[in-house]
Amino acid sequence: MSQVFERVAFLGIGLIGSSLARAIKRAGLAKQIVTFDGNADHAAQAKALGVVEETARNAAEAVAGADLVVFAVPIGAYADLAAEIGPHLAPGAIVSDVGSVKMAVIRDLGPHIPEGVYLVPAHPIAGTEKSGPESGFADLFEGRWAIVTPPPGTDEAAVQRIVDLWRAVGSEVEIMEPGHHDRVLAITSHLPHLIAYTIVGTATDLEGTLQQEVIKFSASGFRDFTRIAASDPTMWRDVFLNNREAVLDVLQRFTEDLTALQRAIRWGEGEQLFDLFTRTRAIRRSIIDAKQA
Ligand code: NAP
Repeated sequence: MSQVFERVAFLGIGLIGSSLARAIKRAGLAKQIVTFDGNADHAAQAKALGVVEETARNAAEAVAGADLVVFAVPIGAYADLAAEIGPHLAPGAIVSDVGSVKMAVIRDLGPHIPEGVYLVPAHPIAGTEKSGPESGFADLFEGRWAIVTPPPGTDEAAVQRIVDLWRAVGSEVEIMEPGHHDRVLAITSHLPHLIAYTIVGTATDLEGTLQQEVIKFSASGFRDFTRIAASDPTMWRDVFLNNREAVLDVLQRFTEDLTALQRAIRWGEGEQLFDLFTRTRAIRRSIIDAKQA
């Protein structure tokens, strides 16, 4: 059973922040939820929607007296916000987040966390291509994974409270070493987004008539890529800039594999293509079996 937080402060109340705030509210895990969002319209919408009770004028005001602070802004905004809130964090508070990379989060938040405040980063493997508080919903995390990545030596009780929180909003929880998280996500999430951005970018660069036909006849393959490539540009810019090494590593392997396929097509090596497509089909089956489809 999860302990109730007195005051939860969300820094950023967009898609993920507002979804978590809704889920926390529904599960009765907080007495009060407050937000600071740099986008005043988003903050006002969140209040009007009843997602938060209070909107603060700045981040320092939001975190004052909070026993849980959740960063739910793009990764590139963490460092400045952390410097601002550091001196205002309440003793015993837990600082967590929902960011899609984890080593950079510890790098940017760690130095600003005072003695007696606990940093327990987390990443829900759930989302959509939409942004803003109106796109959020309380069921977003239901049956999805939440990865919790405490830095070595983090207070166990604080880690447990974050684990309990994610379980209480319907997620399955895995505790992972932050660097390992970044390598896993580079292949499962970051590379697929990069590929989608590339394919849709290539189509946009085609000459006029061809481009129109791509849109007109977009079969499911291309259409699925356009959905992924519609994801928030700021968020994804920050993901690639802050998980540089792991992404470049998988990109290198991907490029080599693509070259091998190119060669198989050129030389009519149908068996190689068929073998690969058979193996990949099995991966899809195992994702469906794991109920993550
Ligand atoms: P979002 O819907 O765009 O919400 C982010 C909110 O933070 C926006 O209202 C944004 O305002 C605001 N903001 C930006 N910079 C700020 C600053 N310096 N100070 C205060 N507020 C600021 O984005 P999201 O999809 O919820 O993503 C938030 C985090 O969740 C990211 O770190 C992302 O990596 C992570 N995440 C996203 C997904 C996903 O599928 N979207 C999944 C898992 C994790 P503006 O609109 O004016 O920029």
